[in-house]
Amino acid sequence: MLLKQLDNLINLSDLSIINNMRELTFSLEIGDYKRVIVISVAYFLVYNIISIFKLKRMIYLLNLTLLGSGGGMPMPDRFLSSMIIGYRGRKILIDCGEGTQVAMRKTHIGFKDIDIICITHFHGDHLFGLPGLLSTIGNSGRVEPITIIGPVGLASVVEGFLVAEPYLPYDINLIEEPKLDLGFSIPKNILQESKKSGCQEDEMIISTLALDHSSPCLGYSFYIPRRGKFLPEKAIEYGIPKENWSILQSGKPIIYKDNVYRPSQVLGKERRGIKLSYITDTRPIDEIVGFIAESDFFVCEGTYGDSADIEKAVERKHMTFKEAAELAGKGKVDKLLLTHFSPAMGDPNTYIKHAKAVFDNTIIGHDGYTEVLSYK
Ligand SMILES: [Zn+2]
Ligand SMILES: [Zn+2]
Repeated sequence: MLLKQLDNLINLSDLSIINNMRELTFSLEIGDYKRVIVISVAYFLVYNIISIFKLKRMIYLLNLTLLGSGGGMPMPDRFLSSMIIGYRGRKILIDCGEGTQVAMRKTHIGFKDIDIICITHFHGDHLFGLPGLLSTIGNSGRVEPITIIGPVGLASVVEGFLVAEPYLPYDINLIEEPKLDLGFSIPKNILQESKKSGCQEDEMIISTLALDHSSPCLGYSFYIPRRGKFLPEKAIEYGIPKENWSILQSGKPIIYKDNVYRPSQVLGKERRGIKLSYITDTRPIDEIVGFIAESDFFVCEGTYGDSADIEKAVERKHMTFKEAAELAGKGKVDKLLLTHFSPAMGDPNTYIKHAKAVFDNTIIGHDGYTEVLSYK
């Protein structure tokens, strides 16, 4: 209970914490000087405990920045499709429309730590920023390999770009239309087919879904698992000494008295992790619902704001705000961020009611929009 209250306090400013403490002491019948001492000690303790909590939570934060919220062509105040995810010092870029590197500069995001680039499809508004970005990453001093994931045809697209940019100081690994989920081990920077054996908190699971667009197109989801709670009674039952508990807690097995003990023997059920989904460009097919299910954050195209534009949406294989909101509701996501607005749309906020009528927790994306996701 106390921990929960402290956790809530993290969101308050230091000033309001002091005010809370002052109010608390005024409710006590004590003299002024005692009150000052109580405020000072309480503030010192709370501030330090909160700092530790902040630090702990920082480790498990996933942050995202929408770099471009436009579809079709770049506009003066709207860059083309691109989003970047940061997790434990590593970065994943999703789509790379023209101007992506300018948008990264504007939001003060560095180039060197991009490990993975996920391309949804090969329409220019999601792709034409890639050759320039690959070159800039090379100039940033990167020598570690980069992995690019995309639909069938990715190899020939990237090879074409490399004709113009043949001397990159790093290798590029290509994964076309992955058939299985991919596990990205963060500290080691290794991307491989996910074994799905046990829950590795240092691993991000990247899944893809074939969408329904006028070109082969992939949706992406990013999931950070969370291990179950440590069960000390189990460890005692097995006779495992306390000094080995933290190793098991961190997800690694131990050998004690010639027996191997695995984390699964002393941890409870896997808890809900962090899930982020990214769907653009497509019609709202049924498969999307299961794919985005229970996402903490769902980024979805809303090419057309007005529901009256449904015919255009069907013809050009895109979605209206209302259709995106329906997916969010059916998928039981926490929050929907709309993006990929048609160049013909003025202020997308004009049409937000079309989405909110169906799914209230909808936000209209804009270039530079940021969000931080953490374990619930
Ligand atoms: Zn597009
Ligand atoms: Zn497209």
